Amino acid sequence: MEGKKETHQFKTEVQQLMNIIIHSLYSHREIFLRELISNASDAIDKLRFRSQTEPELLGNDAEMKIRITPDKKKRTLEIADNGIGMTYDEVVENIGTIAKSGTAGFLEALGGTGKQDVVTPELIGQFGVGFYSAFIVADKITLITRAAGHEKATKWESAGDGSYTIETVDKKTRGTTILLKLKKVEKDEQDFTEEWTIRSIVKKHSDFVAYPIVMDVEKTEPVPDKDGQPEKDKTQKVIREEILNSMKAIWTRDKKEVTEEEHNEFYRHISHDWNPPLAHLHLKLEGTTEYNALLYIPSKAPFDLFTHEPKHGIQLYSKRVFIMENCKELMPQYLAFIKGVVDAPDLNLNVSREILQQDALVRNIKKNLVRKILDLLAGLEQQKYETFYGEFGHIFKAGISQDFDNKEKIASLLRYKTTHSAGLYSSLADYVNRMKPDQKEIYYITGDSLTTLLNSPHLERLKEKDLEVLLMTDPIDEWVIRDLQEFEKKTFKSAEKGDLDLDKVDDKKKDEYTALFDFIKTSLDEKVKEVKPSTHLKDSLACLSGDAYDMSAYMEKILRASGQDVPKTKRVMELNMDHPLLSRIKSIYEKDKDAAVLKDYTDLLFDIAVIAEGGKLDNPSRFSKLIGDLMVGAIDD
Ligand code: ADP
Ligand code: MG
Repeated sequence: MEGKKETHQFKTEVQQLMNIIIHSLYSHREIFLRELISNASDAIDKLRFRSQTEPELLGNDAEMKIRITPDKKKRTLEIADNGIGMTYDEVVENIGTIAKSGTAGFLEALGGTGKQDVVTPELIGQFGVGFYSAFIVADKITLITRAAGHEKATKWESAGDGSYTIETVDKKTRGTTILLKLKKVEKDEQDFTEEWTIRSIVKKHSDFVAYPIVMDVEKTEPVPDKDGQPEKDKTQKVIREEILNSMKAIWTRDKKEVTEEEHNEFYRHISHDWNPPLAHLHLKLEGTTEYNALLYIPSKAPFDLFTHEPKHGIQLYSKRVFIMENCKELMPQYLAFIKGVVDAPDLNLNVSREILQQDALVRNIKKNLVRKILDLLAGLEQQKYETFYGEFGHIFKAGISQDFDNKEKIASLLRYKTTHSAGLYSSLADYVNRMKPDQKEIYYITGDSLTTLLNSPHLERLKEKDLEVLLMTDPIDEWVIRDLQEFEKKTFKSAEKGDLDLDKVDDKKKDEYTALFDFIKTSLDEKVKEVKPSTHLKDSLACLSGDAYDMSAYMEKILRASGQDVPKTKRVMELNMDHPLLSRIKSIYEKDKDAAVLKDYTDLLFDIAVIAEGGKLDNPSRFSKLIGDLMVGAIDD
């Protein structure tokens, strides 16, 4: 490939993504600079991390910086770094295809390019815009990059019009240089070659970047005489390199001094998330476990929350020197969405991930942070907390199973809608407060929508007695409840599995029905494992339930939908002995055990039970026919 210039087409998604970014962010176009600086800063982080084990990578170019060079005449802007750089293949991989996790999902969520107008900066910011945002301001981008430890460099060029060229070239120094051929400025628009424009953008969006962002600026200085003293009234114009950002480590500052603006910018810098955070936690701990931490709870879950590991998690520093990004050792999985910085002065800079996992200091910090975050969550005002719960609740809840030490705290933070909460969230403590004096258990039911649950026949008896039931629509709830077992000494009781201990079943009546129930059981043998009088039903005829330790129907459905091979659990069919229809069927059975209609009725009972829980019938056309026949028989003309 040496020297040969090749032309490639962008992957369709890349071009789509570019169009969306350019289209939707036009009125925020200054953010391109933040994105390029952020990439440069990431590249330097990566180099520093690698140079800990491969110091030779630094060579004689160890002073890290990011340089911005505007050219008013040529209308170009160059952003250069001496970071890790990219190889030829990495350029193709990172810049030509979709390297960004979640992109496909993002585009899918938008439903193709047709919906460009619905993309708000917040929406796209949630996903991160990155390198391509430079096409908002540039007609053409030329990227030249040399990877650390490599001889040759790669030049990539594109006008953002569907294709790019790529070739191997020479470059004296390590790192990446991005040259933007800027679009013509319209009246009243920012000119990105203007010194003060660049200054103010850097100050606003990139002040916290840990490396100097420098620019050559023209200064008027006194002319020195031959002794080096300024000569009176004589000035000259000189070019000086100036650092534009403060590089302030915001987490080391006094809590009270940091403004909300600064938090928002800093959060944006470390998280790549456009939306301001929901809350933050600023800690300075001294003593045996000494550390500073500045952590943020995002206000929105990212698009790729389910499909990918969170990318920008906790950054680990020691005395303001960056050690690693996304330090999973500091946050349990159920809090993996938390973003921020932890600075632990006693940590060795060369610490590896393997060592971190066993490090007692790290373990202590983690324990500490988790406790503080749980306290922060507990202290959030209701509305904020519910926003948090709506976005991250399904991940957070797993803490019940993952974090034994904090189980109770986490349990107090669980929220559910209930049959009595009028669509609002309720805590378990609220539920317990509302329990009836003689009520011993906390009732719950799981399923895929609130409506199905509210109308479930399993709740009939409970409703009649005005007993409150937690409505659980999140697949993970079932595990959470299993691992939680009890709350304030009250055990959880499924409303659809096992018997409800509400009324005594009338034994005499039960005996009368035994023969019929046995008959039904035999004829439905393939589908049900038991037929019994219901403790759930009041008005409905039939429902299906499980034994106390069976998997719920909902869980079974979810596991199957996720492609798992779940053995079909036979269900228990419950019949309502108080329903008039059942006593009629009983009379038929007692008159003639071989009556042909009995088989039809038995099948119908089962189908009705399936429909009552929103299930699918195995043979819907037979069901329709049976109902049709029944109606013909029932309607006199
Ligand atoms: P992100 O930064 O979220 O990964 P970008 O679109 O900003 O997405 O960048 C895509 C990828 O291109 C980066 O992940 C990185 O691998 C590579 N890249 C971009 N800019 C640079 C740079 N200045 N130096 C080295 N690699 C870079
Ligand atoms: Mg980036």
